Amino acid sequence: MADYSSIQEKILNIRSGEIKLKENILYFLNQIERNKDLNAFNFVFADCLDQSEMIENKIREGKNGKLAGAVIAVKDVIAVKDKPLTCSSEILSKYTSIYNATVVEKLIQEDAIIIGKTNCDEFAMGSSNENSAFGRVLNPVNKEFVPGGSSGGSAVAVAANLCDAALGSDTGGSIRQPASFCGIFGLKPTYGKVSRYGLTAFASSFDSIGAFSKCTSDLALITEVISGHDIKDSTSANIVNQLFDLSFSNKLKIGLPKEYFSDDIDKDVMETIQAKIQELKANGFEIIEISLPHTEYAIAAYYILTTAEASANLARFDGVRYTRRAKEFHDLEEMYSRTRSEGFGDEVKRRIMLGTYVLSSGYYDAYYKKAQKVRRLIQNDFMNAFAEVDLILTPTSPFTAFKLGEKSSNPLQMYLSDIYTTSANLAGIPGMNIPVGKDSSGLPIGLQALANQFEEERILQFSNYLEQNILKRTEL
Ligand code: GLN
Repeated sequence: MADYSSIQEKILNIRSGEIKLKENILYFLNQIERNKDLNAFNFVFADCLDQSEMIENKIREGKNGKLAGAVIAVKDVIAVKDKPLTCSSEILSKYTSIYNATVVEKLIQEDAIIIGKTNCDEFAMGSSNENSAFGRVLNPVNKEFVPGGSSGGSAVAVAANLCDAALGSDTGGSIRQPASFCGIFGLKPTYGKVSRYGLTAFASSFDSIGAFSKCTSDLALITEVISGHDIKDSTSANIVNQLFDLSFSNKLKIGLPKEYFSDDIDKDVMETIQAKIQELKANGFEIIEISLPHTEYAIAAYYILTTAEASANLARFDGVRYTRRAKEFHDLEEMYSRTRSEGFGDEVKRRIMLGTYVLSSGYYDAYYKKAQKVRRLIQNDFMNAFAEVDLILTPTSPFTAFKLGEKSSNPLQMYLSDIYTTSANLAGIPGMNIPVGKDSSGLPIGLQALANQFEEERILQFSNYLEQNILKRTEL
């Protein structure tokens, strides 16, 4: 990764006059232009330059917000007032948002600058960012490889230094997996910690908004800002918002779930993760093997439940509200079906059909209800594990980034790439990707840290410790 300064360092440099905010924004706009082939952005907001003077003055006077001048990209499933909100779908190609998502409102209140909307898999459904009406996104580490998905554009924007940080959404791994494939930090907070108001719903009981960054301290800062109770989201947790303290005193007890360290893992991924675990041991961490016995059912339960929720959520895109409308039809029924057939891509249609099937009266008990029960068992597995350990470590993905096109014709293979990430969403717990090395072809390897609900601070402290003490600069 190119040289960078953390958001806090940047604020200090702007205050001392060492950096001009306008030049910093221009630098990123230039970077976006020069790296257009990566296709990370659906829309770039050059008018964000207009805010530079006002925010720079605030910084000089010491009246600035916590994210003053931080240049942030937002996944194109999150609403930014008066800007397009397409979800990388043809069906929303003409839609403009009339309000800010709560997270965007909070970023702006703290003087962040929103530089644009990033490319993603259509309606956040995918693991490679190849399902997008705006075309696929390339991995900046090696352009023949996918960046991961569904928040591929946000991950690439951060990894290729096109912005300071980015927001993504994670329903089954869409922050952690692309962060892993691109070699950056990404945190999916506890379900309910961050308001979903203004996030286009994919699977409402799974969706979480979170951030991508180049260092742990930036991630802590942004997560702190976007968190908190919101009366506009009835599932947002009504608890006091916490300020993260990254200093770290006692060594944690860490669990390694044996189900996540199978022979299916790439050799380089396994070796790199094991080497880091040995270093942690040498540094005084207590590390034990644990079991999460229902892990093997996670992918099946995830795809049954999320497709069910998606089929209901996506019913609102009907040619009457939000979307463009098919040009030719004879009656209302045909208008709906033509609009949806023309507007949705293949993966979205596949999920609507799957979801409608598992919810249909003859199959509801056999699939949907059973998957709900499995979800509870997976949640219990984690609760039992966290009675014993503070943190769980796993690989974020069993392999590094795969080649463009390699899995796109085989949906099942693609679904299996979420094998280590979906469980955290089934259980509602926080999870983070920490970049820990590279494989023999130079592709990034990610370590996933999981903690109990609302224990983001523990994960962030651990990541900061790792970043400062164990990871060498070259590994990031
Ligand atoms: N790759 C997973 C899926 O396709 C996760 C997507 C996400 O987290 N938004 O469903």
